[in-house]
Amino acid sequence: MTEEDESFRAFARVCRLLESTPSRSEKVRIVAQYLRSLTPEAAGTAAMLLIGMTVKEGEKDVAAIGWSAVSSALKAVGNSTLIEHRPLTVAEVWSALNELKKYTGLGSRIRKVRALAALLRRCDDLEKSWLLRVLSGEMRHGVSHGLLLEAASKLTSMMLEEVTVADMLLGDVGELVRRALTGTLKEVRLEVMKPVRPMLAEMAYDPSEILSAHGGRTLVEPKYDGVRVQVHCRSCEVRVFTRRLKDVTSSLPEVCDAVRRSVSWSEFIIDGEVVAVDKEGNPLPFQETMRRVGREREIEELASSIPLRFWAFDVMLINGSPKIALPLSERRKALESAVDHELLTPAKLCTTRSEIEDVLSLAMRMGHEGVIAKDPDSRYLPGRRGAKWLKLKPPETLDVVIVAAEWGHGRRSGWLSNYHLAVRDVDGKGYAVVGKTFKGLRDDEFEWMTRRLMGLKTVERPWGIEVKPEVVVEVAFNEVQRSPKYESGYALRFARVTRIREDKGPEDVSTLSEVAAIYRRQSLRKGRSDSARLPPW
Ligand code: AMP
Repeated sequence: MTEEDESFRAFARVCRLLESTPSRSEKVRIVAQYLRSLTPEAAGTAAMLLIGMTVKEGEKDVAAIGWSAVSSALKAVGNSTLIEHRPLTVAEVWSALNELKKYTGLGSRIRKVRALAALLRRCDDLEKSWLLRVLSGEMRHGVSHGLLLEAASKLTSMMLEEVTVADMLLGDVGELVRRALTGTLKEVRLEVMKPVRPMLAEMAYDPSEILSAHGGRTLVEPKYDGVRVQVHCRSCEVRVFTRRLKDVTSSLPEVCDAVRRSVSWSEFIIDGEVVAVDKEGNPLPFQETMRRVGREREIEELASSIPLRFWAFDVMLINGSPKIALPLSERRKALESAVDHELLTPAKLCTTRSEIEDVLSLAMRMGHEGVIAKDPDSRYLPGRRGAKWLKLKPPETLDVVIVAAEWGHGRRSGWLSNYHLAVRDVDGKGYAVVGKTFKGLRDDEFEWMTRRLMGLKTVERPWGIEVKPEVVVEVAFNEVQRSPKYESGYALRFARVTRIREDKGPEDVSTLSEVAAIYRRQSLRKGRSDSARLPPW
C-alpha cells in the first residue's frame, strides 16, 4: 500500500480510465482492482465517491452543495494551478465535503464557498474535474451502484446475489465494500431467527401521485391499524419479532398457532401485522392490540377476550433462500402459493385513480386506517422508508377561521390568497393560528374572498392584512405537526380549503384542544416506532 493509492489523484486517474473503457466487465475489473489496492476504510469511502455519493445512503442530504456555491468557489480559485503540493486523499475529500455540509444559517454560504475553494486549491486539473463531477452527483464514467456490487463480489468469494442481499440488509455501500475487504461481508445475511428492520412506507397525498411513482400500476392493500410483526419459522419453532426487533412470541400464542397451521413452507420469514379483533372479526382500535403485544402475564385470559388476527403481506426468506431481491409481484405469488387465504392480506393491482379510491373506501368501511400502495416491481428494502411503498389515508378536516391574509404573487397577484387559519383558543375566547394555505379555492372564490376580507380589515401589514375573525372555512389536512412557528404550538400539514362555510360563525370553529387531540392520536400511532414513552417494542 502506498500513500499514492489513497490519494484523490489516484481516484481521479481511475475515473478517467473508467470513462475511456467501454467494456462493462473491464470496468468491473478496474473498480475491483482499485478498491483492493486501498485500505478497507479508504475503499469504502472511495466506493461512495466513485458513484457520486457525498452522503451515506439513508442519510438525508440536509445541506446539498448548490451549483452557485461551486461556481463562486471556482471563481475564487481562478485559473491558479495547484498551489499546495500536499496530495489530497479520498478520506480528506469525503470529510471536507461532509464538514462543509454542516454549515447552515447565517453566513453559511460564504463559509461553504471558502471551504470549497480551499479544497479546489489542492487539486490539479484532473482532480478538479472529477471533484466537480462528484459534487454534481453525475460521474458519467459508467459505474453504477449495480456495477459496484459486481466489483464487490469480486473482492469476496460471494455470489452477486448474496452481495446484493447483503447490500440491502446493510443499506450502506461504503460499509459493504469495507466488509468485503475485511472478509466480514458473509456475516451480513438474512437468516431465520435473526430479525431485521422492516421496510416502511412514505406518506402519499393523492392516488395520482402513487400511480406516477409506481409507473402506472400499483398493488394496493389495506393499511391495518395494528402492530407490525416479522414471523420467523424453522420446522415447528415459530418466533415473532416487532419492528424494533423485540421477541414477543410468548404474548402471541394464537398467532404462532395460526402460522404453524396455515403456511406450507418448513422454514421462512414472513412480514405482516397483528390486529386485535372483536367477536365478528372486525378490527379494534390500536390500543387494544397494544394491550396484547409484548404482554408477559395473563396471556391466556387476554387472548380469549382480545383475540388477535395475523395478516401476512410479504415474504423475505423461504427454505433458507432470501427472497428480498425478488420483485414484490413474485414474492406475492410465492405467498399466495403457500399461505392460507385467511392469513393473506388482500391486495388489488390498480391502474387508475378511481380503482385506488375504491380500495381506499372499502378499507375504511372495513375499519382499517387507509391503504398501502406498493410498487409491484420493487425489492424488499429492510429498514428503509421510501416511495416504493406509499401510505394513503383519507384527509382529516377542521373548521377554522381566517384571521389574516397575504397578497398573492404571479397569477394570484391582486388577490388576498394566502390565508392564516385559526382555531378557538383553549379558553374559548381568543383564536390560535395553526397554519396557512393558498390551496383549494377557484379564481372566482379568490375574488369573492378578497372583497370579503378587505371589508374585515383591522390592520394593514407589508405582506397583507389582519382581519376580524369572521370568515369560516373547512380545511382538509393530512397531519398535525408540533411547530414552534405558531404560538399554538401546532401546524396543519398540507392544509387546503375544501369549503367556505358561510353557514358557520367564528364561535363554531374547532378548538385548539381538538387539534391537540388529533396530534396525540397521530403520535400514539407513530409511537409504535419512534416514541420512547410507549412500551419498548
Ligand atoms: P407508519 O407507522 O405510519 O410509518 O406506517 C407504516 C406501518 O403501517 C407499518 O410499520 C405497518 O405496521 C403498518 N401496515 C399496516 N398495514 C400494512 C400493509 N398492508 N403493508 C405494510 N405495512 C402495513
